[in-house]
Amino acid sequence: MRFEIFTLLPDVIPPYLEVSILKRASERGLIQVNIHNIRDYAHDKHRVTDDTPYGGGGGMVMKPEPVFEAVETILGQRPAQGQGQPVPVILLTPQGRVFTQRVAEELSQHERIALLCGRYEGVDERIREHLATDEISIGDYVLTGGELPAMILVDAVSRLIPGVLGDPTGAEDDSHSMGLLEYPHYTKPAEFHGWTVPEVLQSGNHAKIDRWRREQSLLRTFNKRPDMLEKTDLTEADTNFLKSIGYK
Ligand code: SAM
Repeated sequence: MRFEIFTLLPDVIPPYLEVSILKRASERGLIQVNIHNIRDYAHDKHRVTDDTPYGGGGGMVMKPEPVFEAVETILGQRPAQGQGQPVPVILLTPQGRVFTQRVAEELSQHERIALLCGRYEGVDERIREHLATDEISIGDYVLTGGELPAMILVDAVSRLIPGVLGDPTGAEDDSHSMGLLEYPHYTKPAEFHGWTVPEVLQSGNHAKIDRWRREQSLLRTFNKRPDMLEKTDLTEADTNFLKSIGYK
């Protein structure tokens, strides 16, 4: 999977990618993150990439010319409709569709995606209308720039690429993957400050452990995010368990 990130602040991104799982994924060629400085595509003396808004008001707006040139140089001419799968050009914006595990799964099916990071008041509207093919928000709040949202997206999508996680089934039980929150985890010691690890987890009985984990997932989803249960496929055993704890 190749990520092409377009930003005015290229230096803030690499440190996060140069550690742990994402670093190993890069080294093994499973992901490639290319960072492009939009300023390199501004050709005037001061390499200006922003300007005042038409109509007045505070703040600056990112100019269209360098952003279009950067994306078109890196991605090449976009294929005409119906001629091959174009690389999605995702504008990070608080006005976009909200990023969820489902969206991460959808994006992980692509071989290459481009991420456009805004700054200031955001980007000239013509970028949104004529260059971006998708708009994604990481939540209903406003940040100073799109770099953190882009890194969040790279992180969440990368861990879905086969081979990136050490354990190939590692992402399967994660919260939101199967429409439930994940069950609790414990590690050694078996007793800490008088708080003990549930006996079933120490029993070695894998059928019992699986059932306990499923019920814990259901229980904490019911307690913390009952809205998720409405959209989840439940077995008869799940429904019976949920009834026993007071759901519907
Ligand atoms: N004036 C814009 C608005 O109200 O919609 C907000 C601009 S914000 C200060 C600057 C940039 O940060 C945006 O262009 C976007 O790239 C990024 N950004 C801020 N919040 C975001 C969010 N929740 N999700 C994705 N990107 C965000």
